[in-house]
Amino acid sequence: MAFHYLDNSATTQVSEAAAKKAMELMRENFGNPSSLHSFGFEAEKELISARQLIAKAIGAKENEILFTSGGTEANNLALMGAAEAMKRRGNKIVTTAIEHHSVFDTAKQLEAIGFEVEFIYPKDKNGFDVKDFESAITDKTILVSVMLANNETGLMPPVSKIPAIIKRNASPALFHIDAVQGLGKENINVASLKCDLMSISAHKIHGPKGVGALYVRKGVRILPRTFGGKQENKLRPGTEALPLIGAFGVAAKEIKLSENREKIRELNTYLRQKLSDFDDIIINSPDDATPYILNFSAKGIRSETMLHHLSSAGVYVSSGSACSKGGKSHVLSALKINDDLADSAIRVSFSKESTKEDVDALLEALEAGLNTLQRKRK
Ligand code: PLP
Repeated sequence: MAFHYLDNSATTQVSEAAAKKAMELMRENFGNPSSLHSFGFEAEKELISARQLIAKAIGAKENEILFTSGGTEANNLALMGAAEAMKRRGNKIVTTAIEHHSVFDTAKQLEAIGFEVEFIYPKDKNGFDVKDFESAITDKTILVSVMLANNETGLMPPVSKIPAIIKRNASPALFHIDAVQGLGKENINVASLKCDLMSISAHKIHGPKGVGALYVRKGVRILPRTFGGKQENKLRPGTEALPLIGAFGVAAKEIKLSENREKIRELNTYLRQKLSDFDDIIINSPDDATPYILNFSAKGIRSETMLHHLSSAGVYVSSGSACSKGGKSHVLSALKINDDLADSAIRVSFSKESTKEDVDALLEALEAGLNTLQRKRK
């Protein structure tokens, strides 16, 4: 049976070139970048080259990139490391109620150890009121963390408005962006976004799982969470995962933003149009969401039931967020999507490999599912 993988926000297939690089760095050029012999030097060259490629992908400088074990660790290091470094200047952290768990739970942890955390709620599923950031960010705010694109619906919070608010409100805050769902999909440039910290992850851009990076703007001080070596500016010590890092660099080099975005926008528009022909489908993603994610609810059919039905037809999607594994989504409830619709939410997520055939297969299986599963309920 042909398969139609439409769950690219959960993870993507590693590209051939990235996999080849990982293999080369495991089997041939397998040295430790810290070793003082030629194997070490060769490995170090690869580390530098990957760092340059990642830096280029987000408009940063090479020495502003720290490799981590993924987006989760990058987010933890950004929030914990910034809060610890900034605590003499204030006690308040501002974030949103729709962040990925790796920011949301870290913010909760900071709250538990005494920081004041304000979670900004969107006004509805279409987005935020910028005024809520304006009133939350004060001269006591030391950190603002807002995601570039939400992993469940693709909603894009107003990140471009935040730096001016921080400045206007005379806040010492560092500004962190979780760009894990933005890299390779949106035009990302740390200079134009005016952020101090940014998290990214390889496995969302056809690189391997288990590697990511934190951008730390030159001159910004955060404190480490782990100790034991000089690697990554002493902020993330430990022997570098060079096969993964090298593959991440290749995947970043392969990003072809404008070419892919155009194609994905067309697929998204096509899917939206076709879904609007079904009476029982409600679209949960805003019109101006990233085109790579489309979340909708098939009224009256639980996500898991529809997901299994689609999967038996070779179409792979996700129920809400893959990370919440069936748990109630804090994102969908913060977006004021009612419980019934949240219980039947399906997330379709595209990558540069997605095709119209994938969308047609989804639509066909969805139609069959709506007919049989709804009938069974009656
Ligand atoms: N942030 C967002 C928005 C995500 O979607 C994810 C993963 O789904 C992460 C962070 C965590 O990244 P990783 O899987 O690399 O730990």
